[in-house]
Formats: sequence, C-alpha cells, structure tokens
Amino acid sequence: MPLRFFNTYSREVEEFQPRDAASRKIDMYTCGPTVYSRAHIGNFRAYIFEDLLQRHLELRGYEVHRVMNITDVDDKTIHGAREAGVPLSKFTAQFKQAFFEDIETLRIKRADEFPAATDQRYIDRMIAMIGALISRGLAYQAEDKSVYFRINKFPDYGKLAHFDLTQLQSTGRVKHDEYDKEHIGDFALWKAWDEEDGEVGWESPWGRGRPGWHIECSAMATTLLGDQIDIHCGGVDNIFPHHEAEIAQSEGVTGKEFVRYWLHCAHLLVDGQKMSKSLGNFYTLPDLLEKGYTGPEIRYALMRVHYRTPLNFTWEGMDEARESLSRIDNWLERLRECSAGVQLAKLDKRQVGNLPHTFEEALDDDLNISAALGFLFETIRETNRAMDRKEFDAAKASAWLNWWNRINTVLDLEAETAELPAEIAKLAEARTQARLAKDFQTSDKLRDKIAALGWEVRDTKDGQKITRRAGEPA
Ligand SMILES: [Zn+2]
Repeated sequence: MPLRFFNTYSREVEEFQPRDAASRKIDMYTCGPTVYSRAHIGNFRAYIFEDLLQRHLELRGYEVHRVMNITDVDDKTIHGAREAGVPLSKFTAQFKQAFFEDIETLRIKRADEFPAATDQRYIDRMIAMIGALISRGLAYQAEDKSVYFRINKFPDYGKLAHFDLTQLQSTGRVKHDEYDKEHIGDFALWKAWDEEDGEVGWESPWGRGRPGWHIECSAMATTLLGDQIDIHCGGVDNIFPHHEAEIAQSEGVTGKEFVRYWLHCAHLLVDGQKMSKSLGNFYTLPDLLEKGYTGPEIRYALMRVHYRTPLNFTWEGMDEARESLSRIDNWLERLRECSAGVQLAKLDKRQVGNLPHTFEEALDDDLNISAALGFLFETIRETNRAMDRKEFDAAKASAWLNWWNRINTVLDLEAETAELPAEIAKLAEARTQARLAKDFQTSDKLRDKIAALGWEVRDTKDGQKITRRAGEPA
C-alpha cells in the first residue's frame, strides 16, 4: 500500500509521489522556532509530528534531507533584545541553545541544516529574490520605503488557504501605518529601518532595513533545497499568511511549483483551552521536567494523537503516557528474559517477515499514529498472555524484539538502559528491602536520595524501575 498524506493544497488525502521516485530522496522543509523566548509544548507538538513523519519515511526506505529554519530577526526578537538591553544576536543565542536542548530531550531528530535568517548568505538571497520580484512587477517599494508583495499580480494567491481575495478587500479600516500599501493584503518583503530597530539592519538597494518573516523562509528553503520541495510542514496557524506568502514569493521568483505536499499539524490545547500566559496554562519543556516527567513520556504524550486532530494536553494524559511507557518497558524486559540465549543477528529473517506489518501500514495512512499505537498495545497484551501461559519460545520472543527495534526507529520511546552506578544500585537495593519490610518512610527517603543523584524511581508491579532522569548527563 502506498503512502498517503493529507495535502492542505487539495484538502484531500493523496498518494505520496516524490519528485524523484527512483532515487527515493526527499527534500523537506519545516518552519522552525522564532527565538524570542523558550518554545512551548504546542510548538513541540508540531516538531514531534515532523519527526514522526521523517522517521516513518526513513523506515519506508526514503532518504530525507530536512531543513529547519531559525527565525532570529523579526518584531518579537528585536523587541525582546531592546527590553533586555542586549544586542540581538546575544538575546537570541540563549533561546537557540534552549531549543537544541529541548529537541534533544524529546529525541527529535536533528534536521540536516538549521539555517538562521541573519546569516549574511541568506540575507543576500532575500535581497536578490526581492529584486527579482520587483523587476517582474510582483513587488513595489511604497512611500514608507518598505517593499511589499503585490498580491493582485499573483493569481494563485490564496490557493493554499482556499482564501478568497475579495474577503481581504472588503475589510474596511486600514491601520494608519499601512496606508502606503496598494492592497490591504500586500505583505512586507523588506521593512524599512525605523528607530525601534536600533542597531538591527542591513543595507539594500531600497535602503537600510530588515527582511519580513515570510521571505526568510523562501530564501532559506530555495537556497538549501532548490526551487522545488517535496514536503513542507508547519502548524495550521502557519497556513495563512505565512505559507501562502512563501508560495507567492518562491514561485514568483522561480516560476516553478514550490512545494508538492503541504502538511499541517493541528493545535495543542491545555485542559480544553488555548494555551496562554494569562490563563496560567502555558508550559515549556522545563516546566514538565520539573514536575518529574521524562523526555520520552512527554514525547509520547505529544505524539499519540493524530496530527490533524487537536491534542488536548492534561496532567491525566501525562500520567497515561507514563503508564503506557512502563507497559512497553515491562514487556521488553519480559521478551528479553524469554529470548535469552538467542542472538538477534542470528535470527531467521523469515520469522521477522512473518510478523504483521500493521504498525507501518497504519502510519502509511496519513500517519495514523493512534491506530499504530493501538496495534502495538494489542500486541503487548497478546504476547504477554502467551508468555503467561508459557506458550512462547526464545525464537518467538526474539522475533518480537526485532519487530520492536524496527518500529522503535520511528517511536524512539524506549527507556535508556544504562547500567546503574554502584552507589545508585546500593540505594536501590536498600529501598527494595525497606519496601519488603513495609517501611515506606525509609523507602520514600531513599527515593528522594536517588532522585537527588539524577535518577528516577518508578514502582511497577514487577518491582521498582530506575531510569536516568531526562536531561541528566550520562
Ligand atoms: Zn516558515
């Protein structure tokens, strides 16, 4: 069965056909963070969806070349740097670093490239693209010295968002600073310098200024991936105007179809509400780690709902994620005990081949992760029952372990199986004894002691499990 994805362009699930089917190489562009603050878990929902997409394509034998941009100049970053009283590059550096820490904690595969908008190479490309758009009549410099895209000259404008231009025209009032534009929907390609920009600015044929956000992505995408891209992703809130503008700019310059498949991830809600600082339901990754959840648990919680369905984040959901991962870990432990003595490498390939492919087939179907996970947990239930009844042999257990290793290249959820350092092992043994003696006070103290050393204790029906806390150095 071929891969199928919902293409925002057509609003239909389409069979996936990359530009170059023979080479199985795919170019993928994903809009990255704007580094003016620490990213929140809603951002990471989109990044985990993109990670799942990339890993599944790789499982299916594609070679994915992925670019994720870093927006390090825009209104918000400039405003933040001014408030903090530091240069823009210094202000954004801390959030770039935080972003890379967070994606590592969540086991999000790094893109092949993380271009930053302020890199001179891309500024040059932005200026060249704007120049080309002006020469084609697709852009103009207004009296305020800024350069705007002329949407009336681009007939396809609105095609992605399925947006009717007349809706824009009927908008009555125009903000004062936008009187200079020919059309209310024209968007800035180059913003003329003003006092609020301070030291931030680059020279251009239209005077000192800085790029608009949309042209940043068009320039970085076409520089690193060429005129045409197989897949472009982002959150649904990026569709209009950001991605619509990316299409207009890129196609306006190259004359070629910019993107074949547009995939967009739905919102994340917290307790059924939009996340916002004023509601006190705005969470970053460190907020969740502080509450004792691990990177894989958060990864699972953000991954388990189909990407086109809004995901409602709740603390119960986090606890369910913990429970689910512990079921996986216990199952793997049982399989490993059962398979003892059989080396995975020596396993007959046919045995693995006989295992169902339902997990992958579910993901082929527009990344249906809920169905894929449903199959995984059904498998866990059935094989556990078979192991209970002793109807399982080592070869069978090894075959399932191999199957797990294959699907875990997509999920990446397994707990780290680091050897316990002697000190931790001693404390753990003392805690086991305390629990056997029902001395829960001592047991709790030992748990805290172990936690203070960077390890997490979980009590399961098979005894305590100790894992390294996410983000702790090895
Ligand atoms: Zn973008």
